[in-house]
Amino acid sequence: MPRIAFIGLGRMGHGMAGRYLDAGFGVAVWNRSKAKAEDLIARGARWAASPADAAGGADAVVTMVADDEASRSVWLGADGAATKMKRGAFAIECSTVSHQHAQDMARELRGRGLVYIDCPVTGLPSAAAAGKLTLLVGADAADLERAKPYLAPIGDVVRHFGAVGSGTVFKLINNLMGAVQIASLAEGVAIAEQAGLDMNLVAEALSTGAVASPQVIRHSKRMVARDFSGASFTTALRHKDAAYAVRLAETLLPGVPVSRAGLAAYEAAKAEMPDEDEGRMIEIVSRPKG
Ligand code: NAP
Repeated sequence: MPRIAFIGLGRMGHGMAGRYLDAGFGVAVWNRSKAKAEDLIARGARWAASPADAAGGADAVVTMVADDEASRSVWLGADGAATKMKRGAFAIECSTVSHQHAQDMARELRGRGLVYIDCPVTGLPSAAAAGKLTLLVGADAADLERAKPYLAPIGDVVRHFGAVGSGTVFKLINNLMGAVQIASLAEGVAIAEQAGLDMNLVAEALSTGAVASPQVIRHSKRMVARDFSGASFTTALRHKDAAYAVRLAETLLPGVPVSRAGLAAYEAAKAEMPDEDEGRMIEIVSRPKG
C-alpha cells in the first residue's frame, strides 16, 4: 500500500489521519504535541520523531496545521518534511494558509523536485473523521489526476479551481464570507434580544428563512441559547482566515468595506477569546437586556 506521512493532528487532522489508516495506507504521523497521536498509534500509525522522520520514504506528505508559520516550519524547518522527501513525492497542503504562502511553498517545494498541491478543505471535524470533506484544489490537472488516490480517503468532493494557489484563493473567499455572515448574525441576534423579541421564534425564523445559509443555520440556535457545545472552529482560526483573505483582496480590489468589517469583528473576538468557538461572537456584541 502507498505510504503517507500525516502532519498536524488537531481537530481536523486527527480524523483525516485516521481515514488513511482505515483505507489501509501505511501511515506515519507527527504532531507538535504527541498526546493527540496516541490512539492513532494504537491503531497502527508509526509515530515519527519529526516531520522529516515522518516524510522519509512517503509517497505523499499531507499537512493540516494552523497557519503559515506552522506550515513553513513543518515543511521547511530544520527537521521539516521537505528535507527527507523523495523526489516526485506529493506535498499536499490541506491547512488554510495565505495565498502568498501557498505560492512561496509551491516554488520552494517544486525546486526540490516535489509535487506541491494546495488542497484546503471545507467541512467540520466530524466530516474530516468520516472522509467527507470537500477538497478545494489548486494543481496542474495531470498532477491532480495522479494525486487522487491520496485524496480519496479524506474527501468525497474535489473542486479543482485551476493552477496551484487557486484552491487557497477560493477557500479564503469562502471563509471571509463566513466571517461576515457569522458576525452579522451575532449583531442580528443581539438587536432582536434588545428589542424584546421571542428569541426561540427568531432562531427558528432565521434558520428557515431567506438568510438561512449553512452558517446561519448552524449558529443561530447556538447563539440564542449561548450553547457552544460541539465547538469546531476557533475565533483565532476564523480571524486568521479573514486576515489572509483581506490581504489577498487588497491586491485585487480597491476597497472591501464589508470584508474589513468581518475581519474587525473577529479581531475583537480573537482578542477576548482566541481558543473559543467562533459562534461566541454573540458574547462580544450583545448587551444585557434593557
Ligand atoms: P487545531 O485543532 O487548533 O489544530 C492545529 C494544528 O496545528 C495542531 O496539530 C497544532 O499542534 C498544529 N500547530 C499549530 N501551530 C504549530 C506550529 N507552530 N508548529 C507545528 N504545529 C503547529 O485546528 P484545526 O481546527 O484542526 O485546523 C487545522 C487547519 O484546518 C487550519 O488551517 C484551519 O484553518 C483549517 N480548517 C479547520 C476547520 C474546522 O472546522 N476546524 C475546517 C476547515 C479547515 P498542537 O496539537 O501541538 O497544538
